[in-house]
Amino acid sequence: MDMQTSFLDRLFESGLLIDTGVDGLYGRSGQFEDVITAFERLIDTFGGADGAEAMRFPPGMNRALFEKSGYMKSFPQLAGTVHSFCGSDLDHMSLLQCMEVGDDWTKDQKATDIVLTPAACYPLYPTVAKRGNLPKTGGLFDLQSYCFRHEPSKDPARQQLFRMREYVCMGTEQHVTDFRQRWMDRGVEMMKQVGLDVTIDVANDPFFGRAGKMMVNNQRDQNLKFELLIPITSTVNPTACMSFNYHQDSFGLKWGLNLEDGSVAHTACVGFGLERIALALFYHHGLDVKEWPASVRKTLWG
Ligand code: ATP
Ligand code: ZN
Ligand code: MG
Repeated sequence: MDMQTSFLDRLFESGLLIDTGVDGLYGRSGQFEDVITAFERLIDTFGGADGAEAMRFPPGMNRALFEKSGYMKSFPQLAGTVHSFCGSDLDHMSLLQCMEVGDDWTKDQKATDIVLTPAACYPLYPTVAKRGNLPKTGGLFDLQSYCFRHEPSKDPARQQLFRMREYVCMGTEQHVTDFRQRWMDRGVEMMKQVGLDVTIDVANDPFFGRAGKMMVNNQRDQNLKFELLIPITSTVNPTACMSFNYHQDSFGLKWGLNLEDGSVAHTACVGFGLERIALALFYHHGLDVKEWPASVRKTLWG
């Protein structure tokens, strides 16, 4: 049995994660949720004075806007769509027949207007664009959403439905890159306060296929993405628990996000992987929260 399986098994045995029979789809215990709630409070204490506008979207988004986002060009392998039965009485009878004999009953399901949200910030850009030009001070938003990614894995830190807390900044290049740097510094400080050793490194998104290789190189060469890494299931390949992304003016151009003077907005987003941070805490401090170092408990619960 490898290390990954054993940490997942320990999480199941302790009840912190609840097995559903699908890799990467887990229930969470009250204790696990309590750690996430406490960590989100810590995020609030670091970010609260910035005056971000909070918005919460459900874990599904408008399919037409998802199509416009270009997600299927870059990450078709990760997307999840919501399909439903839209047939007649007769179609219903053949559907039940199909299920009865164990045939594929899903093939006649039709796409709905909803797809699963791939990252917490995706529903935000078109929402803000509809308001017209951004104010002089730019835009700063506080988001949290369950996100879906089709990447089934035995690694408990790679889930298919997980929560992302995000701050998104819109403004000039200087404004949004300052924002990103501020959160990199804060991220390191926050993790220190909860007793976790981190490294920060340049990173890339998992762009699909041969054309994706060029996107990967471009993203790394230009330092567009950084990750804050903490060892959870491997010390050789530590896990990204936060990411810091600078989109240049690409989302501004795509969605028509403009500044007060009419110039195209630059954007950046900072994401916290909430389950991953909770898992890092349980991995490093033990599965019993009562046994965690006093300083860590104090930071999280006062
Ligand atoms: P990875 O490199 O591990 O695939 P990512 O770079 O694709 O992660 P982002 O797209 O930057 O991740 O998402 C923001 C944050 O959401 C990540 O820093 C991570 O903490 C969290 N996250 C991403 N994918 C998952 C997942 N499958 N399960 C749990 N958390 C995730
Ligand atoms: Zn984002
Ligand atoms: Mg990554």
